[in-house]
Amino acid sequence: MVNSGEPFSENIRNFLKEEVIKFNSHQVTLFDRGRYTFSVRETMNHIEGLPMGEYKVDLRSKWCDCGKFRALHLSCSHVIAANSSFSYDYKTFVDKKFTNECVYSVYNIHFDVVHHQHYWPTYVGSKVVPDSAMRRAKKGRPELLALGPRWALWKMRGENAAIVG
Ligand SMILES: [Zn+2]
Repeated sequence: MVNSGEPFSENIRNFLKEEVIKFNSHQVTLFDRGRYTFSVRETMNHIEGLPMGEYKVDLRSKWCDCGKFRALHLSCSHVIAANSSFSYDYKTFVDKKFTNECVYSVYNIHFDVVHHQHYWPTYVGSKVVPDSAMRRAKKGRPELLALGPRWALWKMRGENAAIVG
């Protein structure tokens, strides 16, 4: 996987493959290549819960009316259609965080070796210990609630008042 030479993970490649299949049924009806804006018409319903129609694509602001481009940071079928209309590689609009190079760079950080506890310096300072009164009962209800919620509330507030009711 690391040395596969693929720029994206399998999931991203599968997503893009499906979008490319959809893009084959799209038509770019209007475009302004100077502003990188396009109007893409769908000619086939691919059943995604979105109405079949005309979608506006603005490559500069990374916008497509379908919402996928902005939400997923991946090229949707409309963006692919827009890019193909002027022979531009749609993969340049896939966010860099999805590249294998970016994912594997997580492992480039330096990890210090933690020595055996025997070699650790002696700790000087206060120790935090759990309050045994706050410990949960092993079986049944928690200890504080064993006498009922009013008692628990009274005990939590630390009040020295009589329980009413
Ligand atoms: Zn789209």
